[in-house]
Amino acid sequence: MKIPVVYSEDFYTDYDTVDCENPDRISSIYFKIVDMAEIIEARECTIDDLKLCHSNDLIESVARKKETFYVAKKSAGGAIIASEIALERPSFALIRPPGHHAGYNFNGGFCFFNNMAIAIKRLLGDGKINTALIVDIDLHYGNGTYDIVKGDERIRFRNIDAYPRGNFMKDLEDALRDADQFDIVGCSAGFDTYIKDWGALLTTEDFRTIGNMLASSNPNVFSILEGGYYIPDLGMNVRSFLEGIMAACS
Ligand SMILES: [Zn+2]
Repeated sequence: MKIPVVYSEDFYTDYDTVDCENPDRISSIYFKIVDMAEIIEARECTIDDLKLCHSNDLIESVARKKETFYVAKKSAGGAIIASEIALERPSFALIRPPGHHAGYNFNGGFCFFNNMAIAIKRLLGDGKINTALIVDIDLHYGNGTYDIVKGDERIRFRNIDAYPRGNFMKDLEDALRDADQFDIVGCSAGFDTYIKDWGALLTTEDFRTIGNMLASSNPNVFSILEGGYYIPDLGMNVRSFLEGIMAACS
């Protein structure tokens, strides 16, 4: 059995952003997981999809940079596809740019559009789900996601940022306690919590445990790449995460 992974070579585009959020992030993951993945090509989302979560001003400001705009729409579109697959089985979106720091009318932290919020709002808008749980395990607070989903009673947003490591895992366990009550679970999967990355918190084995916890709590789960900047081990950590998900499904 392989895990569906939404991906595109367009994510190797060297669009204008900070040095650490670079195409090597995608290649380092792709080559580590390709043998266990059923690769599905990402597609651009539509302007209407962007409008589910963002102001016209913000959309227009990103659209001024053609290359960035194209890849950012493809990244959001990749999240949408992963979320639709998750109605049947767990999936992963190997996408960039990341999205969780993009709010209704602001962006930042290497994010342009909020891939997670767009995917969830689209499923809700299409009537495919009525409720969603978003779990953000990135090192950084998903301020953009919070900004967009706050006040929407159909969506619960849980940001996991407890410290040290034991508390992080406990906080995640708590966040997933009633995950089976939701129609879908979306995980903003950042790997910058890794012990050798900025967060200096979690091991490769922890990512396996986290993947397993997610898919055990609700098989209708999709995860999308957010942060993760320690390139030498990034692919290994994502692989470990995906193995944890698959172990829960077997
Ligand atoms: Zn981060």
